[in-house]
Amino acid sequence: MIEEEQEIYMIVSMSSSGECPRSLAAQQLDYEATPESPASQIILREGMRHERWIAEDLVGEGILLEEGGFCPKCKRVGLHVELDTQYFKLVGHLDRRIVVNSDLYPLEVKALGRFTFDKFKRAGFQEFSGYEAQELCYLEAEGRPGYYIVKSRDTGELLRFKVPYRGYYPPNLYGFNREVVPKRTFRDIIDKLNLAAVALQQGQLPDYECSDEEKRYCKFKYLCGEQLQLEPDVIELGLPSLLEAADMHIEGKMLETLASERIEMAKIVFLEHAKKQPKFRVGGISVSYRGLKSKEYVKTSLLKQLVSKELLDKVVGQSNLFEDISIRILKEKEEL
Ligand code: SF4
Repeated sequence: MIEEEQEIYMIVSMSSSGECPRSLAAQQLDYEATPESPASQIILREGMRHERWIAEDLVGEGILLEEGGFCPKCKRVGLHVELDTQYFKLVGHLDRRIVVNSDLYPLEVKALGRFTFDKFKRAGFQEFSGYEAQELCYLEAEGRPGYYIVKSRDTGELLRFKVPYRGYYPPNLYGFNREVVPKRTFRDIIDKLNLAAVALQQGQLPDYECSDEEKRYCKFKYLCGEQLQLEPDVIELGLPSLLEAADMHIEGKMLETLASERIEMAKIVFLEHAKKQPKFRVGGISVSYRGLKSKEYVKTSLLKQLVSKELLDKVVGQSNLFEDISIRILKEKEEL
């Protein structure tokens, strides 16, 4: 329990309200956070552009918006909202408000990479506890339900949701034909934040066992180094240059998948046409169809059983030395 006579007052950003209490307490105690990688900053900047484009499209459809503008108090973009609880103040910035019959409803927009987008489409807030906590704070601050838009940055696909508040839904609006329902309540978020407040009262970091999701983007992993031992000889590092390389690798792999899919899709279209017209050029591309073919291959394991070692040594060569490194993506990377 928090003792009444001791004042604990933290200011917590609504977008961080889903973080683990240990990391929230670390911020209040001025522990140094691992700096964000340049890739994350680019994603954040791009997200704001997508927000603007989506807002323009909504206005084009005749939907009335209260624009985000610039918050002079916090020197950032968005509509400033606040909530005071006994032990802390929650501060947030709505992307926009939608005006329906002169009433205002909060609108949140997320532009996500295609894998994260697919995950949201599949699981909603269930796999995005940070987004859920942020939205619960926004709805509580506004005291009403809201609208939520999720866009795939890669394919342009858009999902429009209604989000209920205490069982009430916002009015029906063109295109907002899905719903995303938080599983937790605002009270759950406050209870978790209170764990940080209790520990801060003693000037300590709370003990906390985080989920994989909380851990993935935590900027204070170094404070829990020992708990983060994955295998006896593998530790989680937070060096900025390595984090940047990790972002680059994940982004590169995503682009690689996207590139192969696009090339495969184009190939299907070309093949269809080339079966009727075997040679043609189009848009800077030359296409030649040479009919059905098959390739010869050697069954290596069978060959090793059938021929003598001496013969095998004569035909099997050894490559030059190379650095053997395995790089594996552990989880889909979540967006900001
Ligand atoms: S590593 Fe886990 S427990 Fe430690 S601060 Fe980060 S999220 Fe919290």
